[in-house]
This record gives sequence, C-alpha cells and structure tokens, in this order.
Amino acid sequence: MHIAIIGAGISGLLSAVELVEQGCSVSIFDQQHAGNAASWAGGGILSPMYPWRYPDAVNQLAQFGKAFYQEWNEKLLPHTGIDFQIHESGMLIFDEEDFEIGLNYKDQHQHPMQHCEYLQQEQLKKVNPHVSEHFKHALYFPQLANVRNPRLLKSLITYLKQHPQVQFYENTWIDKFQKNSQQIEFIQTQSGQKIYADHYVIATGAWSNHWSEQLHLNIPVNPVQGQMLLFKTPENWLPTMCMNKVMYLIPRLDGHVVCGSSMDNIGFDQRPSVQTQQNIFKACVKMVPELADFPIVKQWAGLRPSSPTGIPYIGQMPELNNLWANFGHYRNGLCMGPSSARLLRQFILKQPTLISPLAYSTNRLQSSISD
Ligand SMILES: Cc1cc2nc3c(=O)[nH]c(=O)nc-3n(C[C@H](O)[C@H](O)[C@H](O)COP(=O)(O)OP(=O)(O)OC[C@H]3O[C@@H](n4cnc5c(N)ncnc54)[C@H](O)[C@@H]3O)c2cc1C
Repeated sequence: MHIAIIGAGISGLLSAVELVEQGCSVSIFDQQHAGNAASWAGGGILSPMYPWRYPDAVNQLAQFGKAFYQEWNEKLLPHTGIDFQIHESGMLIFDEEDFEIGLNYKDQHQHPMQHCEYLQQEQLKKVNPHVSEHFKHALYFPQLANVRNPRLLKSLITYLKQHPQVQFYENTWIDKFQKNSQQIEFIQTQSGQKIYADHYVIATGAWSNHWSEQLHLNIPVNPVQGQMLLFKTPENWLPTMCMNKVMYLIPRLDGHVVCGSSMDNIGFDQRPSVQTQQNIFKACVKMVPELADFPIVKQWAGLRPSSPTGIPYIGQMPELNNLWANFGHYRNGLCMGPSSARLLRQFILKQPTLISPLAYSTNRLQSSISD
C-alpha cells in the first residue's frame, strides 16, 4: 500500500514511521526542508501546560507521549546515531491559583506524569536552587519530561531517508487534490506534477486551512505565532523546567535553556519582535534571576496550528474514502504526536484503535456549501 503524506512536521513524519513499520511505502512532501516549521520551533514539553485547562481528549493523547518517544528513541538510535534526549527534568509551577486544582487533578486522574507535590520554600530550594526568592512555594511534577525536538526531527528524517520504502520530496508545495467521486485520484504539485497513491494524508499544520476551498469544508486551523529565546548555561545547570503565567523555562542536558512563549494572531509572520523577546526575557528572569548572567544564543518564532478546542482532527476526511487528517494540534503537537500518528495508522490499516477515536473525528468540520 502506497501512502502520500503532505507535510513533514512531527505529525507527518511520525505518521510515516508508523506506516512504513507496517510494510507500507510512503512519499512525504514538504514545501520547505522537512522538519523546519512548528515542530522545530516548539519547546518539547511532553504534557499540556496546566493539563486541567485542556479537554480530556487532549490529555488522553498526550499521556502516551513520553513512553512512545522512549520506544522510538531506542528503535531509531542504532540506525541514526541520534539520541533525541527525553529529559525527565520534572517541572515546577508557580501559579498559586492552580495549586489546589492541580492537586485535585492528580488525585482524580492517577496518571504518573501528572503526579504532583506541593513544596514549601525550603523543599523548593532543594529541588531547584536557582528559583527566585520571590516564590515561596510551588507545585512539583517530578515525572514531567521534555524532548529535544530539533534532534527528534533530525532522527526521524534520517531514519526515513535511509528507508528503502520512503521517498522524500522537499521544497515541493502540494497545491491541489483531484477528486473522482468519493476518492482522491491524485495530488498535484505547484509545478503541475501529479502524484498517485492509495491513500493521502493531510499533515499540513498551520497551513491546513488551504484545503478548505477545494474540499468545501471550513477547516478552522490557522497560524498562531509563538516566540522563543535560548540561553546557554553550564551543563546540567538548571535542574527543572519552570512555569509561571504560561511562560516557561526548559533545560536541555547540555545547558541550553529554551524560554517562551508568546501567542499572536499575525498570520504567517515568523519574525521574532524586539518587544515580545523583551517580555519573554523579563518573565524568565523573574523565575530564575541568574539567567540574566548567561548569553542568549538564539531567538525564533514558529506557527502553531490552532484549532478551536485544541483537539486535533485525526481520521478519514468527510465523504472521501482515501483522504486522511492528522492536523490541528495547536499547542500540544509534540506531546500528542506519537499517539496521533498511531491512531491514524490504525485507521488507515483498519486496526483496533489505541483509544476511542470519536473526539478527534473530522465530522466536526462544517461543510462550506450552504443548503
Ligand atoms: C513556540 C512554540 C512552542 C511550542 N511548545 C510545545 C511544547 O512544549 N509541547 C508540545 O507538545 N507542543 C508545542 N508546540 C506545538 C507544536 O510545535 C505543534 O503543535 C506541532 O509542531 C505541529 O506539528 P505539525 O506537524 O502538525 O505542523 P508543522 O510542524 O508546522 O508541520 C507542517 C508541515 O507541513 C508543511 N506544509 C504545509 N502545507 C503544505 C503543502 N500544501 N504542501 C507541502 N507542504 C506543506 C509545512 O511546510 C510544515 O513543514 C509549540 C509550538 C510553538 C510554535
């Protein structure tokens, strides 16, 4: 079975590895270099931030993130030589208004990743001695991890490019679908080349609204810009992730600390702005004042594929037997990526599904044809 996947972000690449591991052949298309969009720009926290603020359907997919990435890392490492570092740093949350609800959430859900403890200042200092004196207490999630997403992408791309059943088409914008009754007959590149496959997958992230017109659907997925900045501290300097007022610090094992993020509806603009970078800097230094002593080595922006509830669209597209969705992951596409791709593979190959898939149905997409 031959599958054409449009989009080589985390959603498309993980869909590809799931499918090739089952014996399918895969062609992957991206308008730019593979793995350069939101999936590169993100932080790689392997849980929704403040999970109690999200629908169950998001948390349900996210709960598999860490374990599935550990499995993929072990499987791909011998082929690629790239360890994408699932760093179990734990996380501290300083938002006092979330303490009670966070502790209740842990009691109700019993999921190891959401296990949390309330820390007084003395214990807090032991867990992370760099936190500002300003914070007298915190919620501590010892099992929360982050993945080094640029390396994750590199690993997936390296593995797939070596695979005899995979073909990569970079710098190739897929422009349209050719429909024939209830099927897609072929897809077409901007330069007019036609590509034929048995099944087609839309994994086009923030660009997914592009398909609305030709599919006669309202696809409410649009870009929401998020900016980041990167500090370089000594190796193993910051022991935990930190979060306050939706701003976070993510330590990598080699001492880089990723800090973010902002939320702006400004279309496809991917330029960081001075004002937003200053806001992020202030929020980070408020959590860990000593960060101001270290150099900022990089700044960037990425485009999250927003969707109305943050619940991605996964499954068969309405009224088309061989067109499939895996898009709209908004703020949590890295942690939901592995289970989203597994679910998609199970749908296409008619296998039993990991979890009940109803919440992710594309039936939520409204027709744009008026009666
Ligand atoms: C600043 C920031 C921080 C984040 N932090 C986290 C986090 O800590 N944890 C987490 O889980 N998530 C996080 N996210 C969200 C996460 O990054 C996204 O949800 C996820 O990367 C979306 O993956 P994707 O593959 O769907 O989209 P993308 O990575 O954007 O990939 C889509 C790809 O499709 C290609 N494409 C689109 N249209 C076409 C076309 N017509 N033809 C050919 N190619 C096409 C694009 O070029 C792109 O490469 C963050 C995002 C940002 C921006």
